[in-house]
Amino acid sequence: MDFSYAAVRVAAATVARHLSPTPMWSYPVLNATVGATVLVKHENTQPIGAFKARGALNLLSSATTGTVTYSTGNHAQSMAWASHLFGLPCTVVMPENANPSKVAAVRAWGAEVVLAGAVLADSEAHAVELAERTGRRLVSPGDTPELLAGVGTLYDEILTARPDIDTILVPVGSGTGAAAATVVTQALAPGCEVIGVQSAASPAAHDSWRSGELCVRPNRTRVEGLATGRGYDLPQQLMRKGLHDFLLVDDDRIAEAQRLLATAAHTLAEGAGAAALAALLEHPGRFAGRTVAVVCSGGNASPRELAALR
Ligand SMILES: *Cc1c(COP(=O)(O)O)cnc(C)c1O
Repeated sequence: MDFSYAAVRVAAATVARHLSPTPMWSYPVLNATVGATVLVKHENTQPIGAFKARGALNLLSSATTGTVTYSTGNHAQSMAWASHLFGLPCTVVMPENANPSKVAAVRAWGAEVVLAGAVLADSEAHAVELAERTGRRLVSPGDTPELLAGVGTLYDEILTARPDIDTILVPVGSGTGAAAATVVTQALAPGCEVIGVQSAASPAAHDSWRSGELCVRPNRTRVEGLATGRGYDLPQQLMRKGLHDFLLVDDDRIAEAQRLLATAAHTLAEGAGAAALAALLEHPGRFAGRTVAVVCSGGNASPRELAALR
């Protein structure tokens, strides 16, 4: 397998040159509500509002040519941001119905956005063709080891700060975060369990993990960061070895968790960023009395998403 904890340590040096460690805080009102000690890892405070900055930074810090990629939003922002940082061209294919806040952010970092396809799988096909035509490197948001290594630095920070954590809850789309979490946890805190969380309305990664085969599933969730539509090989291989469990939550529970983060943790989370906490709300008995890290993976909520949270 082309990925190890050693790669995360190398990435940590690169990431540290450009990004500060994100805060991880606990909130008494939140703890009382869920009946566990919750540590919120604030990736919503990254310059692009999501943890994916780490992966793109690691990938592009040694790149010499431009890239083509496909994304529902935050992978796009991370690639646009890191490409801007290193002066590289970047084209991102996004679904036609992409969150307009994310599209605007990608363009603002200077990347070219192509809106193509009803769902991410169609955008991917377009990106493959574009990469072939232009000779640029095609970057898969899920199957790129350098992205996993960069993303792994998040779990390095969590477990270096708090090796006593019982459980880390990780929102899953393609699975890079959860896969990296399993590798870092095995190296630093083998007693800590890593649990993936996806929306029940877009269960491709979950179903791939349970069945042991890469599945394609409909994307019916409102939560775009978790809506990948298919399993990705590299993260699935790692999750099969190291993930302790994989939970599904429905979109209304995710919205409840977004409201709770806003009121009890003064935190603006997008749906994907609240999914880990939603799993705690869904299974209060399972996590009672434990010390649980929840990754608030991003804060890029659209105006429409925020208006619907009332
Ligand atoms: C991409 C993303 C996820 C899912 O991460 P994967 O590594 O694709 O599983 C979760 N939350 C947010 C905010 C994201 O942008």
